[in-house]
Amino acid sequence: PTGLREVTVEFPAVGWDDVGGLEPAKRELVRAVYWPLEYADRFAEMGIDPPSGVLLHGPPGTGKTLLARAAASLSDANFIPVNGPELLDKYVGASEQAVRDLFATARENAPAVVFFDEVDAISPKRRGDDTGAGERVVSQLLTELDGLEPLTDVVVIAATNRPDNIDEALLRPGRIEKAVETPLPDRDARREILGIHAREMPVGADVDLDAVADRTAGYSGGDLAALVREAGLLAIEDAIVGDGPATDSTVGRDHFERALAETSPSTGDGRADLG
Ligand code: ATP
Repeated sequence: PTGLREVTVEFPAVGWDDVGGLEPAKRELVRAVYWPLEYADRFAEMGIDPPSGVLLHGPPGTGKTLLARAAASLSDANFIPVNGPELLDKYVGASEQAVRDLFATARENAPAVVFFDEVDAISPKRRGDDTGAGERVVSQLLTELDGLEPLTDVVVIAATNRPDNIDEALLRPGRIEKAVETPLPDRDARREILGIHAREMPVGADVDLDAVADRTAGYSGGDLAALVREAGLLAIEDAIVGDGPATDSTVGRDHFERALAETSPSTGDGRADLG
């Protein structure tokens, strides 16, 4: 029993418009993912080797996975998600084989974005790993990153909440060169994210999303999505069990007030060491 999951390949349909804020991160992903996949010949002409990958780091729920999907979508590339801890296997050989299989699948499905979530888990420095699995995964990963000659049609996006725990060998030039932060959203980004998640909702005229943005400092994108969803659920509840007319199922100010009262930021001030 290896515990290793099948490699899945998705073709995501996430637009840049579905990602609120994060302008610097978007710009970096255009350069590090979209251009190399779409304009490989330009890099060749310029004699520039594109990086093999980029690292997204930031608190939980700040849109790392969403951004990676959007970058794949923008590049018309397949998306292959893999979770760092899932690659660790105490049986010698199994972890290495899993990494080889992963890249073989990526090449077969090129252009492809390989998305490594929780990439810190495969650091050899990881506490509690006495099986050496982390070390073996990193070394196989380095072989793949260095060995895929023109890695122009397979790009790696790695993600972590703990950038300090990443194996430095992975971050050398030509490998996962660029580190891009996904910070907690500022007020304007929160407003944008609220708008994105309320886009399809029948929101009442009394709702002021600017005011909601003002009052959600410290919320991640994921927290804001949950807040909007909760307001929607409260509106559904009112329409079903409430005494108002059944046709009136818009989401009103009161639903947002109650949702705000019920939720809070999930990551403290977001600068806390999550280790
Ligand atoms: P983790 O570190 O926990 O894996 P993450 O950074 O990968 O988190 P996502 O999974 O991308 O976070 O975000 C969770 C959900 O929160 C998204 O599916 C989306 O609905 C919402 N979300 C997060 N950030 C944004 C954003 N910038 N714009 C719009 N929605 C967002």
